[in-house]
Amino acid sequence: MVPFSTDTLIAHLKMLTDYLEYGLSEADFFRVFKGNHDAYEVGDAVSALEAAGYKADFGKARLSKLDPILFPVLVFDANGLPFLVLDRKDKDRFLVVDVSSGSSEPQIWRRWEPRLREARWILRVSRKHRSGEDYIARQDHWFWSAFRDLHGVYIQIILAAMVSSVLGLTTSLFTMVVYDRILPNEAVDSLLALVVGVAFALMFDFLIKNLRSRFIETAGKRADMQIAERLFNQLIALKMKARGGQNGRMTSILRDFEVVRDFFTSASLITLVDLPFLFVFIGVIWFIGGPLALVPAAAVPITLIAGLMAQPFLSRYASESSIDGQTKQAVLMETLTGVETIKTTGAEPIMRSRWNEAVKAQANSSGKTRLLSQGTVNLTLLVQQIAQVAILFYGVFLVRDGTISVGALIASVILAGKALTPLSQLAQVMTRLNKARIAYCQIDTLMEQEVEREYGRRYLSRPTIAGQIEFKGVHFTYDEVLGSILKDIDLSIKPGEKVAILGPVGSGKSTVARLILGLYEPNDGAVLLDGLNARNLDPADKTRNIGAVLQDCWLFSGTLRENIIAGRFKITDTELHQKASISLADRIASQHPHGYDMRIQEGGFGVSGGQRQTIAIARALIGDPPILVMDEPTSGMDVPTEVRVIENLKTWLSDDRTLVLVTHRASLLQLVDRVIVLNNGKITYDGSKEEILMLSRPKSSAVKEA
Ligand code: ADP
Ligand code: MG
Repeated sequence: MVPFSTDTLIAHLKMLTDYLEYGLSEADFFRVFKGNHDAYEVGDAVSALEAAGYKADFGKARLSKLDPILFPVLVFDANGLPFLVLDRKDKDRFLVVDVSSGSSEPQIWRRWEPRLREARWILRVSRKHRSGEDYIARQDHWFWSAFRDLHGVYIQIILAAMVSSVLGLTTSLFTMVVYDRILPNEAVDSLLALVVGVAFALMFDFLIKNLRSRFIETAGKRADMQIAERLFNQLIALKMKARGGQNGRMTSILRDFEVVRDFFTSASLITLVDLPFLFVFIGVIWFIGGPLALVPAAAVPITLIAGLMAQPFLSRYASESSIDGQTKQAVLMETLTGVETIKTTGAEPIMRSRWNEAVKAQANSSGKTRLLSQGTVNLTLLVQQIAQVAILFYGVFLVRDGTISVGALIASVILAGKALTPLSQLAQVMTRLNKARIAYCQIDTLMEQEVEREYGRRYLSRPTIAGQIEFKGVHFTYDEVLGSILKDIDLSIKPGEKVAILGPVGSGKSTVARLILGLYEPNDGAVLLDGLNARNLDPADKTRNIGAVLQDCWLFSGTLRENIIAGRFKITDTELHQKASISLADRIASQHPHGYDMRIQEGGFGVSGGQRQTIAIARALIGDPPILVMDEPTSGMDVPTEVRVIENLKTWLSDDRTLVLVTHRASLLQLVDRVIVLNNGKITYDGSKEEILMLSRPKSSAVKEA
């Protein structure tokens, strides 16, 4: 297909979704997008539609054969250019919208219109829920849905197990025939024939077993890819409130997904699948060895009971071990993030002892698990051996009575061994099952937590926000126990207004900024943007319209350019450089041999605090958002730099952009006309800048000259 322009595709998709239940915005189409802007593909569109709660599929089909209820569809002509077919009027007339022709009016096209006739590729979109059902579509389960389409594979695995266990009978039956028929008669010809037969059976068994591993591997890989992506998405999407600052714990939980994955895609699963076949073996022993079957039949319950009795303990130790693992990871993460502080404050002993304690605890709990599960394994092995001796013992009497032949006795011994082998692995499988279950439950809880953008929920799309910000009776607390951080805040900022928020440390200034940015939601009351409750606004539209410089500027690993452009599309180098010159981040680029391609390390390591702020400011200005929220943006800068940045920002802000600025520096007040003072979570002053400067002259409290 000839590549079409991203804009054409998205314009058509927007139109298509408008005709369905709800139109998606450009932000919707880019949210799940992975690649670079010029290569937006149909696959990306399908993911975007699915993420937004539609059902979408893309494939080859003939328009004239399409069932009328499947319309509207997006069709790609022979050149790969999209157009929209809304409906089929009758046998040979279609209602078409061709956005690329510049008109959005539906036209009637006849069937023999070349573009219609040659169209082969069709993107079909439909609503996920049937009418009358709950409007909020439910997302598929993060784990089980990955296995949903794999029924076939698992049926194949079970079939393979069946065939393989039947083939497993051959060696024992062969032994029996050799003892009973071949040896007494010295029938070498028959022996040769039998050996060839057995050889075939063994080869076949070998193939089937390998095939089975392949099936399991395939299933595992597919599930792995799908689930891992879902987990990562959830990790990003979690609301700030749901995280609770426990990154170490969270990474540990997600890492334990490996345990779950391994369980479903490994030998453990094979053991479980093989288990029921032990009854087949016992049945065959009954058939050839008669009452001898009683011995393995008695051994099964003994091992099962031993295994089951260990269960509650195994389960407890596994959950202890998992919690200890989380603590260990948390200590590790915390130490690595704060290593400079730890070194300079001599806090190593604290961290080291925490680490040692966590290691000890985990060693303890996993040691107990190992001991117990090894104990059960040993017990089952013992039972297995006793069973063997018992069969021989009992068998001798049966042979003497002539009830069974010598061959049947030997075959029974072999079969009993085969039957009891999976049982001896059961204990280990149970241990892994317990670990997997605990990991699964923990991830499941994580997946149920509130996310920023609820699946299938319709948000109001506002491609541009004018800049009105209102707080109506806002109460906010990070944690019920801590009590209110913001108390009944009422506040209205008009578009184009420049406002500073002042106040002592811990008064809630940064919290106000976070609420405007939508990082947290008020517990009571509402934050409104352009008169709309910010809760209902599309998060992507908020991000695009509000430039943010947070109190601690975080940089990710990558180039300077990537750090400034971050998540925006279609940013030219001209704009990049222009924004970098406003914030003086261009100086960093000009001092470095690689310019904007200079590498920045994880977390912005290797870039000074002030430099980090210049980068963060440039990043906030990219895309010229109408609202700018900055939290002490110049705290790490020297005075001359700050003066120049302020000058530049003044020009950029002009009259129509809205500014909310949290600051302690009097110099920054040049940028604002209005000042709000927060004290202990309440607004104690809201008025003009001049007035507060007069008020604070004699006894400067909130504002100090920098
Ligand atoms: P500041 O005015 O200094 O910017 P903040 O808005 O950052 O103050 O914080 C206000 C209060 O909220 C502080 O007392 C602080 O202890 C508390 N706080 C800030 N962030 C969190 C958080 N993530 N979790 C719990 N409490 C917090
Ligand atoms: Mg703050």
